[in-house]
Amino acid sequence: MPHSHNDPGWLKTYEEYYFHQTSKILQNMIEKLRVHTNMTFIWSEISFLSLWYERAHPSLRQQMKELVHSGRLEVATGGWVMTDEANVHLYAMLDQLIEGQQWLWNVLGVQPVSGWSVDPFGHGAAVPYLLRESGVKATVVQRIHYAWKQWLAEQQLGDFQWRQVWDVSGEADILCHNRPYDIYSIKHSCGPHPQICLGYDFRKVPGEYTEYTIKSVPIDDHNVKQKAELLLEQYGRTGSLYPHNVVLVPIGDDFRYDHASEWDQQYSSYQRLLTFINNDPKYHANIQFGTLRDYFNEVQNRMRDYPSLQGDFFVYSDIFSEGRPAYWSGYYTTRPYWKVLDRQLEASLRSAEILYTWAYAWAVQEGQNRVVQLLEKDYEKLVRARRNLALFQHHDAITGTSKAYVMHDYAIKLHEGLHDTIALAGEAAEVLLLTPGAMASLDSRAVPLHHLQPDFERLTYERLPRKLPRSVPRNQPRLIVLFNSLAQRRYEVVKVLVTSLDVRVTDEHGHEVPVQLNPVWNDTGSGMAILSTQFELLFVADLAPLSVITYCIHRTERASLDVRAAVYSNNYAPAPDQNYSPPFESHDVLPGDIQLESDHLKLLFDGTTGMLRSITNKASGRVTQTAIRYAAYPSAQFKSGAYLFKPDPNAREPEEDVLAGAKPRLFIHSGPVASELSVMFGSVLMHTTRILHVAHQPLASAVHMENTFNLGGRYNSTETPGFPPHFRETELFMRVMTDIDNGAEPTFYTDQSGLNMQKRVRVQRIGIQGNYFPITSAAMIEDNAPGRRLTLLTNHAAGAASWQQGWLEVMVERRTFYDDARGMGEGVTDQKRTVGRYWLLVEDTRGPEPVARLSLAAHHLANDLNYPTSLLVLEGLNVDQLRASAHLLSQPLPCPLHLVTLRTLPDPQYPSLLPSKNALMVLQNQAPSCSASSSVSSCSGLGDTPFPGTDLSLQVSGIQRTSLTGTKVHGTVKSLPEVTVPHHRLRALTLTFPSPPPHPPPAE
Ligand SMILES: [Zn+2]
Repeated sequence: MPHSHNDPGWLKTYEEYYFHQTSKILQNMIEKLRVHTNMTFIWSEISFLSLWYERAHPSLRQQMKELVHSGRLEVATGGWVMTDEANVHLYAMLDQLIEGQQWLWNVLGVQPVSGWSVDPFGHGAAVPYLLRESGVKATVVQRIHYAWKQWLAEQQLGDFQWRQVWDVSGEADILCHNRPYDIYSIKHSCGPHPQICLGYDFRKVPGEYTEYTIKSVPIDDHNVKQKAELLLEQYGRTGSLYPHNVVLVPIGDDFRYDHASEWDQQYSSYQRLLTFINNDPKYHANIQFGTLRDYFNEVQNRMRDYPSLQGDFFVYSDIFSEGRPAYWSGYYTTRPYWKVLDRQLEASLRSAEILYTWAYAWAVQEGQNRVVQLLEKDYEKLVRARRNLALFQHHDAITGTSKAYVMHDYAIKLHEGLHDTIALAGEAAEVLLLTPGAMASLDSRAVPLHHLQPDFERLTYERLPRKLPRSVPRNQPRLIVLFNSLAQRRYEVVKVLVTSLDVRVTDEHGHEVPVQLNPVWNDTGSGMAILSTQFELLFVADLAPLSVITYCIHRTERASLDVRAAVYSNNYAPAPDQNYSPPFESHDVLPGDIQLESDHLKLLFDGTTGMLRSITNKASGRVTQTAIRYAAYPSAQFKSGAYLFKPDPNAREPEEDVLAGAKPRLFIHSGPVASELSVMFGSVLMHTTRILHVAHQPLASAVHMENTFNLGGRYNSTETPGFPPHFRETELFMRVMTDIDNGAEPTFYTDQSGLNMQKRVRVQRIGIQGNYFPITSAAMIEDNAPGRRLTLLTNHAAGAASWQQGWLEVMVERRTFYDDARGMGEGVTDQKRTVGRYWLLVEDTRGPEPVARLSLAAHHLANDLNYPTSLLVLEGLNVDQLRASAHLLSQPLPCPLHLVTLRTLPDPQYPSLLPSKNALMVLQNQAPSCSASSSVSSCSGLGDTPFPGTDLSLQVSGIQRTSLTGTKVHGTVKSLPEVTVPHHRLRALTLTFPSPPPHPPPAE
């Protein structure tokens, strides 16, 4: 099976690879498959395929179509990229698959039936599930722990059914083929002996001098017998690892077949070998060029029943160097700044998709032609943002394992996507809120829709967003527009910077809501001073499902002191003069432990470090130890890097107490909406813990934490003694140490790309590096018996571990000076100031369930972190030109049904350019735990079907049940409540919106 592995970015950028190599590979492919009429090829990265196709001569396009339809060219997976499987969260993982498969279907008219995932560093259970639901029949994995490879070989289990952890009957199984050897290059694919296999790589390009150019000689009449028999022996050994007699032998490597000559070299030598073997009956063998589909067809012809395996293939470990295991658990955390940026685009794109679909369908139905034209023109931007996000899901992108300049290029693309999707969301929200009168006047003046703006600026991707202070004139209230992209009601803590203390806030109905004003601090060098020109306004918004809702900030006559936070600190700057009176009631932090308290929770903090020690549930009186500790593993030089994690075995201490000796600066704000404690350790770390004074569950029972960290800033030894100079070889983590009994061999649970939870049990002898697992949104530990469960929810991908009983930790940041010898060739030293957000939730539980699941409250908090409310500020229009709210859904979906996406599908004729009148809706049943007691006050019902009468506020002319990527129709439904989404499953629908009847001719 000839193939070429094309990374859309790694040592070069996506575009550089395309122009230098990939465009030639595709060009040669068309030419050479025409000449060598029995040769086959597979391709999988649609990011490259579409780039080539859209620039290719029409005759070449036609030839590509013919090759695909003849079966000689198989497009496998059909993803925009070969997605990473550890760090990628559900939305982006599915979206890149939709983007790729939609393109394929619209342009080439094919639906992939085989999956090909051979380079991601470990394999998760989400990819096979999504492939299965999108119509793929069988898939391939490659990089799994060497001990797994050995075990699968011994058991002859290389072809197995991959079963989901929740799946009792096997109805979501997918056939999976494990490659038996280390990697996919020819050296490792013909059989167990790399030195022999090297002799079967026939590429010879002038000027290239490699290990295979020394070994291999072209096949001719003299050597064919000896070479054929040697090869057959390798094939036979490979075959012995499987219970059938079919062997798949990939012939390729990274960016292979870029020279036309390689096509001829590989083809002619292999053609001679297989002719020789096939023509001699004594070999009892038949060898053909083939694709994945050919392999799986042959296997299926021989076998119907396969053993099934549940779980996933993390942590990946190789024994490439020095024969010692190397654990690939560093990349779970490498470059957290990018991992956060990715999720910001993910949330922003999702909001823009839903708002765009809603506004476009509405404008078409209402005959708002100018708006329709504007939105049609902007569809291109939406597509570009999808593709920028999709590109970043590549296994060298979100993993942080590309060269620094390539990471920079990815970030520029993510930032562009963020900018465009925020603008698109603003436009669409404005369309939905404008009053008919305002719309008419806009129409006639031909003013574009740009009156809803973000409340922050971000000039480059490298800087964190900076909130802009808003003035509130006396007679002109400020309008805030909020979009709840969830299909359930939500309460959102809204923060706005204002320039005045005399403000109040009203909701969409004109009712006043409780507010709090917090100080904004300024570091004077000799302490922290409270600014008198800007303040943080805090209030809790109540947002109906899938709604755009307006809130108003008004100037009041008289400032109310009750809404101002009480302030405590140990680091006030000296007062500027004697008459200075701070705008907030300010106190010193008293010695001893610190307590923050709400109606539901009591939090105890260490008064010196500002770190949480325990959480008391006031209703039950239950106290849970939750000591937070920051420390760092000193990493082993050259063995810890972008991919690998390995603590230094010769370090004086296994964990460096990096914050010891530092003088933390404490700040406490407490008011009617929230109480929070922040602690600053120089410029390296700021850690904030917050509880809310609200009645709504689960917000009232959860603890919010925020980390702002920067290991890339200037080192200041007086501020942060303990940190090594320039933080070399530092793997910083945050650990929660609890009194929860999760076993002597600690057990914990990690999310699988946001789809399900996977159980992990510590294996002490392989070290901490073999016990770190990827999370994209959640990790939890719980008592072995009925008791408590602690869930940590996060807004970005990271590594997590439970190394000792009662512990749960996440890696926060990594800085390694040296390359870890896995191909990238660089250390990782481009750290930036990064913000990570978490919810910490302690619940009662009846003990571990057979299938671990997050509680309903944890799902709710995860959705809150993953899909934050969009906040826009009205500029340049009067408040009365907007309606108070707009609603897409007549009523919420039941608690477990999450709207994954609602995205306008492309016009099949112009898939990168124009929208169609169809939208793809994907629903996920998040299947909350039955064991953890949790209360969520903002949604109702645990059903797997929308409530009777649930409807969109748009006219829909047709609803079809489809495959996950919308390319295959499964049936028709009349209304949303006819759709059932079983537990843990995803279901897709295409909605068709009617075009308006043609306009009647104007009356005479
Ligand atoms: Zn790769």
